[in-house]
Formats: sequence, structure tokens, C-alpha cells
Amino acid sequence: MKLDKDVEAILSHPMRVIEVSIPIRMDNCKIQTFKGFRIQHNNSAGPFKGGIRFHPDVDMSEMKALATWMTIKCAVVGIPLGGGKGGIVVDPKKLSERELEALTRKYVHLLSPFLGPNIDVPAPDVNTNPKIMAWIADEYSMLQRENVPGVVTGKPLEFGGSAGRNEATSLGGVFVLEEFMKSVSQKAEQTRVVIQGFGNAGSNVAKLLAARAYQIVGVSDSKGGIICDRVIDPQSLMACKVEKGSVKECGLIVSDLHGIAGASCKRVSNKQLLETECDVLILSALENQVTKENAHKIKAKYILELANGPVLPEADKILKKKGVTVIPDILANAGGVTVSYFELVQNKMNFYWSEEEVHDRLKKIMLEAWHNVVKNSKKYKCTFREAAFITAMTRLEKLIQTRGVH
Ligand code: NAD
Repeated sequence: MKLDKDVEAILSHPMRVIEVSIPIRMDNCKIQTFKGFRIQHNNSAGPFKGGIRFHPDVDMSEMKALATWMTIKCAVVGIPLGGGKGGIVVDPKKLSERELEALTRKYVHLLSPFLGPNIDVPAPDVNTNPKIMAWIADEYSMLQRENVPGVVTGKPLEFGGSAGRNEATSLGGVFVLEEFMKSVSQKAEQTRVVIQGFGNAGSNVAKLLAARAYQIVGVSDSKGGIICDRVIDPQSLMACKVEKGSVKECGLIVSDLHGIAGASCKRVSNKQLLETECDVLILSALENQVTKENAHKIKAKYILELANGPVLPEADKILKKKGVTVIPDILANAGGVTVSYFELVQNKMNFYWSEEEVHDRLKKIMLEAWHNVVKNSKKYKCTFREAAFITAMTRLEKLIQTRGVH
């Protein structure tokens, strides 16, 4: 696309990189110190925007990549927000609720000069949820001595959250997938779907697709997965996962609850799950899942990336050669940030929309983005990923040039 070199240089680095050290008193009365980050990549289009991740593998370079993708993602769907990302190096499952709340509040305290509805607005990501977002909004509001729910999105409904935020990422992906399926004349009832990751994005996409008659036959989480010879009911699977701790324990239960005589599920590793024969593989766990080692073993015809960066660039080349179509993360999972944008708008107006209104607005934005990407993929004869980048970069280039650089 012959991107302006100055624009390329500006977007090649984050504007601000923040690292904090967060000491908290644990339940055993000892002090433990955690490392936290917030990366503010670019705010040409609007306040920095991006999730907060609690995970032992969080590191600075991962955060920089994720923040960069946020700038690009917001530009793919054309919403007036920039890109940011944050995280704490922690396994939240090893903390008590009190410790988790103390850690979250201290992180906000340390970052507060750099946050705000017009500055930087975090959201949920891996291992963070509406409850944690409420702590963030509450802590920030106390520091500002006024109610500022718009400092963060993905909040509970009763505290300024938006209707439809919880399933927004998955619903946005489903809108795009359905449009794509129409274009290749593939019917939902004849489409076998395998889903890696059964958290917020994965479990919601399973529910939404099952309701549209897609055939979910395999699911995994961090502990392992199951592949079934009949359709999996996501509601029963979620109930079982809550009780047993992992979908890998739920094969029998899923079949039983379905009342399908003879249905059987087998346990598989995550590696095996990715290599299962299916029409659509949905990646909704973490980054770096499809690599040059396993890309040639992928048997899916289509991949929907709900996770950020699940396919490595070298793997992308192999998939392209194999003829596997990838609907890329910066388009497929942009529904989350789009409804976050709606939440911010509603907080600013102090006036709230119905779920139907949120879904209608989301659909309009996702389909427009999809059609722009398809148009660019034809114009530049490239993959949907390349076309999504071109769509975003065209917008950002124009915006940065219009604002000017001193
Ligand atoms: P989550 O913590 O709710 O769920 C993550 C799921 O992935 C869990 O079920 C976990 O067990 C599973 N998992 C972890 N490692 C795995 C592995 N190696 N193999 C299989 N499963 C594994 O997180 P989430 O919010 O659903 O986010 C998932 C992905 O989607 C992330 O890449 C995130 O950045 C991206 N995303 C999420 C949103 C959102 O609104 N939640 C928006 C945009 C992008």
C-alpha cells in the first residue's frame, strides 16, 4: 500500500511504556511484590484503549504487541479510540479474592495519573472480568473524588456497564463469520466447529453458534479438551466446567445431558484439538498457538481468530499455501472494543441503550468493516489479514497526516 514512511515510524513504537512494581500484603501477612505494565501505543484516533491481563506469562514485549494490535483493531472498525494494553505478572487462581482486589486497586493507584475517560480506558482481557473492572472504576473514582465509571469498560451492568458487552467479542466474530459463510455458500448445519479456549470469548461463541445450528464438536481449555462424535451443548458444557474445573472432564456428561444414545467424546490434548478435522477452527485462547511446526497439520478449512495473535506469521504463510482462509484477529475480535466504545459513549451521556440497540449498532460496524476488508483483499489481491492491516493503515495514515507532526 506504500505506507508513508513517517507514519510507519510513528506506529512502529509505543508512545508511552509504563512499568510498575506492586507490593501487597498477602493473607499470610507477608508482603509480595508483583510486576505490572501499561503500554500506550498510539492515541491519534482517541484515548488509548485496551484490556488488562492477569497471567504469569505477561511480559513487556507481549504487552507492546497487544497494544499495537489495539491501535490497528480500532482503525479496522473505524472507532475513535487508540491502542493500549496492560497486565500484571500473576496467576490470579493462586490469590484469594481479597489479595486479588488489593492487587487490582494498587495497580490502579500507581497508574492513575495516566488513566481517565479521555486519556486511557482499560477493559477486561485474559483472567480479568466485570468484577475486577468495577474495582478499577471504584478505586479511580475514589482517587478523583468523583464518580468516573468511564475510566474502564466491561463493568457490571449495575455500575455503568453496557448491555451486550459480555458476549460482544464473540458476537462480532459471529457476524463476520456468518457473512463469510454466505460468501462461500457453507450452511451452518453442515459446518463442524472446533473451539480452542472456553473462557469469555470461547464459551460465548460456542453458545451463539450453537443457537445458529453450527455443529460444535470439539472444545478445549488450558487443561485439555474433548472431541465428540455428536454436537456438544455449550450450556451443559459450561455447567460441567464450573463444577469439574475443565472441559476435559466433561465428555461423558455432555453426551448424557444431551440424551444422545451412543454419543461419545474422547479426551484430547490441545495439540490434537488444533489438528482435528473440521470446517471452522476458532482460536479463542492465547497467542502463538499455530506455529510453523503445526500449521501444516491443521485440517480446518477456515480459521476464526477470536484470540489476539494466535497464528504466528510463519504459520500464516503455510496456511495461505494450504488454502486455509484466516479471518484475522484485528477484524474477528473487534466486537469487544466496539461495544467498549459504546459503553464509554453511554457513560459520557449517562444514558443507556437496550441490548437490541447495542447488537444492531455492533452488527452495522462489524459488517461495514468486513466489507471494507473484502474490498481491499480484492483490490490488493491479498489475504484478509493483509487487507485488514491495509484498511487500518489507510485510516491511520490519513489521520496522522491530518493532525500533523511538529
Ligand atoms: P479468558 O481468560 O476468559 O479465557 C481464556 C480461555 O483459554 C480459558 O478457557 C483458558 O483455560 C483457555 N486457555 C488458556 N491457555 C490455553 C491453551 N494453551 N489451550 C487451550 N486453551 C487455553 O479470556 P478471554 O477474555 O476469553 O480471551 C481469550 C482471547 O481472546 C485472548 O487472546 C484475548 O486477548 C482475546 N480477546 C478477548 C476479548 C474479550 O472481550 N474478552 C476481546 C478481544 C480479544
